Amino acid sequence: MASLLESEVDGAALEELPDAELLQWAFSNYGDRAAIGTSLQLTGSVLIDMASRLGLPFRVFILDTLRLHQESYSLIEKFEKRYNIKVERFTPAPRKLEKMLNVHGEYLFFDSKEKQEYCCNIRKVEPNERALESLDAWITGLRRDQSEDRKDIPRVSWMQSKGRSVLKIAPLAHWTEADVKKYIADNDVPYHPLFDQGYDSIGCIICSTPLRPGEPKRAGRWRWFNASDTNKECGIHLDKGEGI
Ligand code: SF4
Repeated sequence: MASLLESEVDGAALEELPDAELLQWAFSNYGDRAAIGTSLQLTGSVLIDMASRLGLPFRVFILDTLRLHQESYSLIEKFEKRYNIKVERFTPAPRKLEKMLNVHGEYLFFDSKEKQEYCCNIRKVEPNERALESLDAWITGLRRDQSEDRKDIPRVSWMQSKGRSVLKIAPLAHWTEADVKKYIADNDVPYHPLFDQGYDSIGCIICSTPLRPGEPKRAGRWRWFNASDTNKECGIHLDKGEGI
């Protein structure tokens, strides 16, 4: 299936499409050049369930940093069984990972913001770039209420990846956390069990921790530094794209 050209995508019309219709549009027009990328947040569960109800084949991928919680691997298996899909795993490049560990050790992310970003780059950003090479449309679970930095994200935008335009689609951008939880409860959707243990976002072991009462949503990430930084990002979504 040939993917749509930029000039063939009517961004304003897509912004207004109902959620499931936007997903359907993506898989109908991009086929296996479209995929849901999930880090196993609650919105990822919703997107997988919605996509499954469309009855179209759809791809799902995760960035397996090799430092995920055991519960994350169990949830992936649950998705695969429940929806009869194969979740694609993009892992760190072995040589780059080996070099990083040899020079800086396994726990370099404690040392400085720079080393945390280096680790995220090797374990997440570079594998994500590899995933994007197989895509023309990247479907994400980003929501505007997740952080100050995400409050204006468009549902549909163009981003650049290695000199190529990729359509980034956030069908649930306008959903609230309550909307997400209601969909999951109403439809008995599998979700990450750590959300029932105080976590507000799921990432790597050690680097993501439960929230304390009253803390901002991203405070559980890398909590040993940048305590006042409520926009903590690992680099994957730094290109927020312009609405089209
Ligand atoms: Fe490394 Fe932590 Fe980033 Fe995971 S979240 S890639 S362990 S710094």
